[in-house]
Parts: sequence; C-alpha cells; structure tokens
Amino acid sequence: FSKGLGRNCFSYFTSSMQETAQTRMRLANDLREALSGRQLLVYYQPIVELASGAIHKAEALLRWRHPARGLVGPGDFIHIAEETGLIVDIGNWVFRQAAAQALRWRTAHHPAFQVSVNLSPAQFRGKAGARAPWIDNLRKLGLPGEGIVAEITEGLLLEASTAVFNQLLEFRDAKIQVALDDFGTGYSSLSYLQKFDIDYIKIDRSFVRNLKPAAHDLVLCEAMIVMAHKLGMKVIAEGVETEIQRDLLAAAGCDFGQGYLFSRPVPAGEFERLLSDSLTPPGPSAT
Ligand code: C2E
Ligand code: MG
Ligand code: MG
Ligand code: MG
Repeated sequence: FSKGLGRNCFSYFTSSMQETAQTRMRLANDLREALSGRQLLVYYQPIVELASGAIHKAEALLRWRHPARGLVGPGDFIHIAEETGLIVDIGNWVFRQAAAQALRWRTAHHPAFQVSVNLSPAQFRGKAGARAPWIDNLRKLGLPGEGIVAEITEGLLLEASTAVFNQLLEFRDAKIQVALDDFGTGYSSLSYLQKFDIDYIKIDRSFVRNLKPAAHDLVLCEAMIVMAHKLGMKVIAEGVETEIQRDLLAAAGCDFGQGYLFSRPVPAGEFERLLSDSLTPPGPSAT
C-alpha cells in the first residue's frame, strides 16, 4: 500500500522491481491521458505554526484518480513522469492549481498564506533554452511571489548547473520562496545552504519518526534547527504524527510542523474547512 492515501489507495506495482518495460509504457500512456482527461488532482496538506497551532501554509501534493485503479499516490507514478518528460507539463499544471488556491486563500483567509509546490529536477532542465512559465503564471494571476514556496531537493543543488542556478536567481527576483525538501537525507553538503537563497528546510520525516526525549534523532533535529535559524532559515518538520513529536519539536524551536497529527493531505474543499476552523478565534460557545 502507498502511504497516506487511506483506504482507497492502490499501489500500481507491488515493487518497482516488477516493472517491466511493457507496464512502464502502459503507465506512461495512461499518465498522458490522465493529464488531458482531468484525472489528476491536487491535494493539500496543512503546514501548522507550532507555537500557535494555526495553519499558515499548505503543501500541494499530486494525486491520480485512475478510472480502474482508484486513487494513486505520486510514489507510484512520478518516476515515470520524470523519465518520460511528462513531469514538465504535469508540474506546470500543478503549479497553476496551487497558485490559484494560494491566491484564493490569501484573499479569503490569511494575507500571508503560502502554498508549496514540489519541483522535480527534470522541470529545471526543460527544453533547451525554454524558460519555465512559473513567473509568468504568477504575473497573470496577480499572485505575489511570496505566495509560493518551491520545494526542491538537495540533489538539484548538487547538480550545480547554470540552469538551476539561474532559475533560483529568478525565483529570488520574483520573491518565490525556496524550501529544501527531505532535508538531511541527501548528500547534505552544507555549503549549499550558504550559496543559494534558501528560505526553509524541511526536516525529513525519518528524523521525526523516532523522536523521544534524549533520543539521538532529537539531537539531530535540534542541531538542524539551530543551524537553520543561524543561517536565517525557518524550519518545517515533516511527518509529525504524535503530540510527543510536536511538543519536542516545538520545545526545540522548530517553526512549523506538517503531518497526520494535524491532517492528512485533503482535497481543496476540505482544506478550506480546515483553514476556516483553524483561523476562527475561539469565542464563547453557542449555548
Ligand atoms: P514530499 O514532498 O516529501 O511530501 C510529503 C509526503 O509525506 C507526502 O506523500 C505526504 O502525504 C506524506 N506525509 C505527510 N505527513 C505524513 C505523516 O505524518 N506520516 C507519513 N508517514 N507520511 C506523511 P505523498 O503525497 O505520497 O507524496 C510523496 C512524494 O511525491 C512527495 O514527497 C514529493 O516528493 C512527490 N510529489 C508529490 N506531489 C508532487 C508534484 O506535484 N510534483 C513532483 N515533482 N513531486 C511530487
Ligand atoms: Mg515536498
Ligand atoms: Mg518532503
Ligand atoms: Mg519527505
């Protein structure tokens, strides 16, 4: 079973080892149809300010409502989208959805609301010389760059290509924020944190999973938080599932948390309700 999809989830393959060339080709074709046939959806997972419990941001997470297979998570198809180059069109579509929601939620709920979007390294390569449409999209929508957080991984920074470097500079000029996803799991060359303008690190959930008082993972989280703050970055902890984890992270000074404790990723309409509840000041009970 894929993680995080609840009861309807379906794994395309029991193991990627069993993917034959044929199943991959079928999957690629299905995926092409999914994009044009409106089978792709974006779910949103709240990112909560630990000090207040308020929802400040959302991460946009791709889902595929497959006509025969039900709801499929990105772990089962993103790699095919990347290999076939479909990720460029899919990623642009996700970006437009996320930006439209960000604008809506900033207008209706919270003027500083942000939606974060996962960007694949393949989206930075694109076609030779082609500029990614991200910034034009924002301009057309009238959404300020601060409304979007681009989630990238350490691997992308390791590429250290001119294309990546220029894109990050473009983000900075447009005020699009940048988060380093799955932090601590890559080839953390810490010098990259200085070289690029990174606004957030997202502590990978493998560090959060076993958080206990006096656990080694707590020491690692504390060290990452102190380092990030000293470099002027904010910290989001991924995979927060228990109150103990939340409390330890909050005590360590972690700024934001994301995880099943707060909510699973949900469709936009449901997210909207979470957001209204989160921002409603606790008033006198209606008796
Ligand atoms: P990610 O960016 O690290 O996203 C966080 C993943 O952790 C999500 O899985 C989310 O559902 C899951 N998660 C959140 N809270 C918890 C928790 O408390 N416990 C556990 N066990 N898991 C939690 P999801 O949605 O299956 O996405 C998996 C990965 O697929 C993402 O990891 C991201 O790398 C990629 N992905 C998702 N959407 C997109 C997209 O639009 N474009 C690209 N390029 N990649 C995407
Ligand atoms: Mg992410
Ligand atoms: Mg992550
Ligand atoms: Mg992760």
